[in-house]
Amino acid sequence: MYSGGFYPYNTLEEFWAWWSRHIYVNRYDLTPGEPYTRLLELVRDKDYFVLTTNVDHQFQLAGFDKTRLFYTQGDYGLWQCSKACHDKTYDNEETVRRMVAEQREMRIPSELIPRCPVCGAPMTMNLRCDLTFVQDEGWYAASRRYEDFIRRQEGRHILFLELGVGGNTPVIIKYPFWQMTAENPQAVYACVNRGEAVCPREIAERSVCLNRDIGEVLREVSQDE
Ligand SMILES: [Zn+2]
Repeated sequence: MYSGGFYPYNTLEEFWAWWSRHIYVNRYDLTPGEPYTRLLELVRDKDYFVLTTNVDHQFQLAGFDKTRLFYTQGDYGLWQCSKACHDKTYDNEETVRRMVAEQREMRIPSELIPRCPVCGAPMTMNLRCDLTFVQDEGWYAASRRYEDFIRRQEGRHILFLELGVGGNTPVIIKYPFWQMTAENPQAVYACVNRGEAVCPREIAERSVCLNRDIGEVLREVSQDE
C-alpha cells in the first residue's frame, strides 16, 4: 500500500479512487492495534511524550493524550493544497467516505475531486514526501510541546524508547535519541526492532536493544507490571 502512494496515476479520478481506499482502510475503518493500547497502559501514569513518523492516527485512536503527541510526517486524515499556497490542512473524512462509496471502476466522480479553496489547485495528501509538505498551526504547536518536554527532561532520568524505527527517516527519532542519551548520563536508550536493534558503542552500557517483535515485547512487559 505504501508503494502505491508513489504511482503516477493518469487522472485525478483514478488517483483519488486509489487514495480514498487507502485512507479509508488505514485511517477510518479500523480499531487501535494491541501494541498501542498496551503501550498506553504502560505510560499512562508517567510523564511521557510520543514522537512518531506514523501517519495512521493509531495513537489518537488508542486514547493517547493529544497534548503529548507529535506526529511529524502528516496524517492520512488531512489534505493540503498541492501547491502549498497556504499553511492550512483540511479534514478529509466526509469526502473520503463519499469517494469510497461513489467510485466505479477505479474512478471517483469528477465533482468529488478536492480543490484548494484559496488558489483552486488540486488538493493533495498532507504527508511529508517533498518540500511542499504543509506544517499547519497544530504541527508547530506539537513541535513546541515536544521541545518543551525535552528541555524539561535535561539531566533527568529518562527512557528513550524507540519502537520500530527503520533506516527510512532516522534523523527524526533514532539519531536524536542516540545523541540525547549520549549527552545525559541519567538517560537510558531502549530499541525494539526485529532485524535492526542496534546502538552506537558510546551508549551501549546504558542501552537495551531487543531484536524482537514489538507486540510480543509489550505484552511481556505489561504482564510483569
Ligand atoms: Zn492553493
